[in-house]
Amino acid sequence: MSEKMTCPHCQKELTNWVAPPDSGWGEILVCFNDQCPFYLGSADSILNKGEDQRSLGCRYAVDPANKYEPFSMLAICPK
Ligand SMILES: [Zn+2]
Repeated sequence: MSEKMTCPHCQKELTNWVAPPDSGWGEILVCFNDQCPFYLGSADSILNKGEDQRSLGCRYAVDPANKYEPFSMLAICPK
């Protein structure tokens, strides 16, 4: 099965990503597009907590182990 899933927010292909073992997610599919409206929008809502705060955002992700249920993966913006 090489079915590709795309992000409903930016239409980019989701990337296979193996989450850290302690996250409990296993292998998931994530939208790693930094221009994704979902990601950019989430950063806006999470930010504004202080100047030395690292930038946090939520990337769109789906969990194949959970019927491809979409969820928000908290991610740190590399800035
Ligand atoms: Zn996206």
